[in-house]
Amino acid sequence: MRRDTPPPPGVPEQPGVPEQPGLPGMPERLFVCTPSKLAAYEDCPRRYRYGYVDRPPPPKGPPWAHNSLGASVHTALRNWYDVPAAQRGPEVVPRLLRGTWVREGYRDVTQEREIWRRALGWLDSYVAALPAEPLGVERVVAARTPVIAFSGRADRIDRRGDELAVVDYKTGRVQPTERDAAGSAALALYAFAAQRMFRRPCRRVELHHLPSGTVATADLTEQSIDRQVRRAEQTATDIRAAEQEVAAGGDADEAFPTAPSQLCGWCDFRRSCPAGRQWPGQEPWAAVERPLVTADDDPDT
Ligand code: SF4
Repeated sequence: MRRDTPPPPGVPEQPGVPEQPGLPGMPERLFVCTPSKLAAYEDCPRRYRYGYVDRPPPPKGPPWAHNSLGASVHTALRNWYDVPAAQRGPEVVPRLLRGTWVREGYRDVTQEREIWRRALGWLDSYVAALPAEPLGVERVVAARTPVIAFSGRADRIDRRGDELAVVDYKTGRVQPTERDAAGSAALALYAFAAQRMFRRPCRRVELHHLPSGTVATADLTEQSIDRQVRRAEQTATDIRAAEQEVAAGGDADEAFPTAPSQLCGWCDFRRSCPAGRQWPGQEPWAAVERPLVTADDDPDT
């Protein structure tokens, strides 16, 4: 997940244009956001500025192999549902994966071929468990609050009896836990938007980790969803304040401070960021050649 999507109908998103203060007495415009936009600011305000405020943005580093792998697998799973139901079976998986394969970021052809075989193995095992007709596949969901206009693209939305479940595919090296599912801001916002759009309860959220074949689930509550919505609104308020500070002539580096950590090694903007360059950079293919770990064993978290 964590991919940007168009804003809800009627709500313009203008990357690079700071939010303008409203006229006195006028309601503030809603802050248009996606899970990735909010997460970028929460992870590091400077990364948010490089990605969403500065125009032109600073140059990004080279493409990451793990992003190529994730995009390839996600698209293959989406295209599974374009195959007529009677023809769906493991035999179509190689064709689907070949059709969606993104080649960027790998060390060389040998590594790319090895990772292709690995992804094929994940999909071979996983497709048998796919529901015949989910409610939505890569479905855009959107909702508004008094502060934000949120939208995002859910990997899958399933019907489970009278309720809905949000399913997120994961292809990274870290096996997610139930705590990750319960604490995911993105999943809670998808559940919030899905239950408003489809007028059905949506409390179940699931992280389907294809490399390990595991599913981490959580049953959210109205309170836990509400907490994440309030948190998103607070982040939006903070971003708007920083953007208005810059629009009023404030120092952009102070308004959007750096938050350096080991994650700088994976940041697209590390080469343009004085604080990030203090941390060693990762090779574009580093994440796909490291072994699977649990969250507790991961040195990067
Ligand atoms: S390199 Fe680190 S400090 Fe700099 S923008 Fe990226 S995450 Fe933030």
